[in-house]
Amino acid sequence: MIIILSSKATGKNKDEIVKRLDKSGYSVDISEGKERTLIGAIGTNLKNREEVMAQLMSLPYVEKVVPILKPYKRVSKEFREKSEIVVGGDLVIGGRDVVIMAGPCAVEGREPLIAVARLLKRAGVRVFRAGAYKPRTSPYSFQGYGEEGLKMLAEARDLTGMKIITEVMQARDVRRVAKYADVLQIGTRNMQNFNLLKECGKAGKPVMLKRGLASTIEEWLLAAEYIMSEGNPNVLLCERGIRTFETYTRNTLDLNAVAAAKDLSHLPVIVDPSHGTGRWELVTPMAKAAVAVGADGLMIEVHQNPEMAFSDGQQSLNMKHFRNLKSEVKPVAAALGRNLR
Ligand code: PEP
Ligand code: MN
Repeated sequence: MIIILSSKATGKNKDEIVKRLDKSGYSVDISEGKERTLIGAIGTNLKNREEVMAQLMSLPYVEKVVPILKPYKRVSKEFREKSEIVVGGDLVIGGRDVVIMAGPCAVEGREPLIAVARLLKRAGVRVFRAGAYKPRTSPYSFQGYGEEGLKMLAEARDLTGMKIITEVMQARDVRRVAKYADVLQIGTRNMQNFNLLKECGKAGKPVMLKRGLASTIEEWLLAAEYIMSEGNPNVLLCERGIRTFETYTRNTLDLNAVAAAKDLSHLPVIVDPSHGTGRWELVTPMAKAAVAVGADGLMIEVHQNPEMAFSDGQQSLNMKHFRNLKSEVKPVAAALGRNLR
């Protein structure tokens, strides 16, 4: 970091800072200008960096503290160039394939779940999604089937061979969900539930981390760092739209964040245009844009009968629309040398 002293700082003030930095494990490089003194603090310890910066900024004779290193390490490109995450068998995310994850918003019962799973399997889907624990805005809305729903998902996997991704909402459920799921999903509302992140870091299963609906890209990457720093390298980032002033769409799908995350991190990036738009008719065009910008996968809500869905019917594709999405996105992926699967 670089510490810029105010024009009123004295030699004693400068010595005080050098002493503090030395105590915190930094070596210093001082540059005395005509108007200002700059102190370069040299050290790579991220552990105490935030505190040291905040303490220095509180001093009246410090004008500014400028960080040089990124606040995350394990998620960054400097740590690793590229991550290919093996979900199981030949299913790899972050490689040449653009992987589709599809399924209804929620598990709505055994028969409808198995029925839509079979339809999606026939349509070539390899990762099946559905929520057993549902984070609903209203406490009066359907809250999900819980563990019973997880068992239905496991049955769908046994019958179809598709992998399962499903949401885990609280730290104490992580082991239970990990028993049934192939990939754990952390929802947008929980992106900064740090206990949940840490528990998922110990779960031994890949984790898909959805970006918080009002989170910056840096906060999103730091949340991924939490999971990785507990020993789980298998993290997928998922952009699912952020809250803006726009009301026509449910959220604003931030494709800037996809390009930025691909630039800053080695982790694969998934895009969810269903929650990102909240309107089924916008899902296919935004899926094409997502793949064009570099997404490694798509999460798409599909329901055999959206007008009967328990949740998110307005943004769910029916099977015909889903097949159409696949045929429209395929050539976009191919143009980038990738294979939509
Ligand atoms: C979901 O995938 O069904 C979901 C609840 O997503 P989000 O957390 O992005 O709202
Ligand atoms: Mn949903």
